[in-house]
Amino acid sequence: MKIVDKALGGFLGLAIGDALGAQVEFKPPGTFPLVTDMVGGGVYNLLPGQITDDTIMSILSTRSLLECKEFSAHHMMDLFYKWSSSPECFDIGTTIQEAIYAYKRTGDPFQGIDDENYSGNGSLMRIYPSILWTLDLNDVDAFSIVWDISRLTHASPIVYDVSLSFFKILRKILLADSIQKDEILKGLKIQLPSRSSGFVLDTFNVALWGFANSESFEEGVLKVVNLGDDADTAGAVYGQLAGSFYGVNALPERFLRHIREKDEISGLVLRMIKR
Ligand SMILES: [Mg+2]
Repeated sequence: MKIVDKALGGFLGLAIGDALGAQVEFKPPGTFPLVTDMVGGGVYNLLPGQITDDTIMSILSTRSLLECKEFSAHHMMDLFYKWSSSPECFDIGTTIQEAIYAYKRTGDPFQGIDDENYSGNGSLMRIYPSILWTLDLNDVDAFSIVWDISRLTHASPIVYDVSLSFFKILRKILLADSIQKDEILKGLKIQLPSRSSGFVLDTFNVALWGFANSESFEEGVLKVVNLGDDADTAGAVYGQLAGSFYGVNALPERFLRHIREKDEISGLVLRMIKR
């Protein structure tokens, strides 16, 4: 599969997982009719296919990288700030909101807290652009940029470990000529957490579990979002992984056609890959 088809799959997969999951976000598992389609609703009364902060922050990160032609921490945080203070902003995590306030107060864009109590999934959900941006660098230089983008808002040792694992997996998929699921999952200890919480390790495990226990993008994404709770971010992280693996042509059209940002995302991905 061509790298561009995997990259389109990963970014559009993120959006699909986000929009599907947002329909049942915050709801404990078993308290809602199972998600089977893009129907909207949920606590934010969304339109079918409406994306949330997970996809929006990924789009903003991509725009910043392409506009600056490099990673500019100030520029990216300025875009986050502009969005966070706009009427369109909803579902923003408290860690991210606090980091943005602290940036405006201090001028220092690196506001992630190096403390295990701050190990939310708010930077993992938007890691995909940084992976695409750094594909042509060696592992060390690439991850250094990926981590810098995380620590704008999230800098705990657990977030570091999870980000590094996800970075390795996504790079392996994107850079391989062909790869089997077994090779990706080899050596990973996947533990389905008791809840699909906002804790970064839980989200990562839910995404891996959905990927390991399904035969298609669609089967996995529905399994993941139907765990409820932080379903949009779990869906977004699963979507990056499974979308990259199965490719853009494997994304169900009945989900994709509702994503209003589809063309914008595709354009951004093409610019990232062809630069
Ligand atoms: Mg969200």
